[in-house]
Amino acid sequence: MRLCLTCGYVDEHRDCPVVSAPRTPEEKVQRVQRALVEIDRTLFAIKMSKDPPDRTTLMTLLAAEGQLQRFPSKDLTDFGQKRAYNLVETALRDRRREVEDALGESGSGLSESFAFARRAIELAFRIAGARLDATELDASQLSRLALYPVGVARNRGVGIATICSEIEAKLDETRDLDARVRDWGSRNLPALLTSKEPVELPEKHQSGGFRMLGAIVGRGPASRRAAAVTQFKLLGDQFRERLYLLAANPILLRRASNVSQAEEAWRKHTSGAGAALWERIRKSETDVLAFFLGPIADLAARFDDAIAELARKPRGTARHALRPFEALDAEDWDVMGRAYFLIYDAIEGGGSSDAVVWEPVVRAIVELDPAGHVDEIARRKVHGDVRSRWLKNRGHQ
Ligand SMILES: [Zn+2]
Repeated sequence: MRLCLTCGYVDEHRDCPVVSAPRTPEEKVQRVQRALVEIDRTLFAIKMSKDPPDRTTLMTLLAAEGQLQRFPSKDLTDFGQKRAYNLVETALRDRRREVEDALGESGSGLSESFAFARRAIELAFRIAGARLDATELDASQLSRLALYPVGVARNRGVGIATICSEIEAKLDETRDLDARVRDWGSRNLPALLTSKEPVELPEKHQSGGFRMLGAIVGRGPASRRAAAVTQFKLLGDQFRERLYLLAANPILLRRASNVSQAEEAWRKHTSGAGAALWERIRKSETDVLAFFLGPIADLAARFDDAIAELARKPRGTARHALRPFEALDAEDWDVMGRAYFLIYDAIEGGGSSDAVVWEPVVRAIVELDPAGHVDEIARRKVHGDVRSRWLKNRGHQ
């Protein structure tokens, strides 16, 4: 199997947790040298083989050439290393041409099919992975909201689009909450988000000026204050649910958009001249697919299913999920609320380039990995980022 089930690339790794990219110049040199040793070994084995070269021999050489292209000689530092590189490169090219000549008709067009199939496998794997990420997300927590439950999210297997359209409806329904929360002023926001009593009572909620609550207790009727506090707490409950819906929305939409992007890339690859080539590979060059994927029964006929099974393997049965509403702590709510109003301000102020970005904030707070954990490092980071941005823009805690 030459396809990495973790990062989804064939004969290489990109942003792969399994094989990290070289960071230092020394690591780059080592990487190239390891590749050279390996290619040298491959060339030697082919040379010593008693069997005549076949299509697999040619594909092995093509794969080695691809390897060399990815590990350029410019990563090497001294002349001796570069010379060794050039020798291997030349030996490899000569051997590949020899094998091509020896294969004649049976090898013709193989290098084209080889490169095409390699990319096709990566793209098909990307679609399968994106579809699994989309269908396997456990969004059922949305249906458990007390005030604005998203009923369709209760059932497994409901499409993301269906869930998102119900979220949108709830967001429309709760849109006026934004203005009501703003009426209470930004000094009250932390209290509102954490179910505490308001720290001050804005004009709108009392007769007379903008006074501290303590003063109101002393002078005004206690009932007016009590009513305002009750209203404040209910508004907090409603607004937290609105924030939760606002948080879930991009988490779901991102998954839907990953699926369409992957499908679009596949369409591009297999349209035009690609259509005929892909047809040819599936009909008469299944050995190319098997070269990358290993022996899989009926691979050409059930290519999509086979790829879907491969995509499922590293995921197992564990699913990403939305963090339960009740699991979010006071700090999480505080940070999401502040982030929301910072973005709100930025939009009203004509948009600022260094404004807080909503999606990474909510992903760090509301998304659970398959082990059921939030990414604590990311969560701490967005907490810090949002708070410092708030201090900078609003000038108070
Ligand atoms: Zn990988």
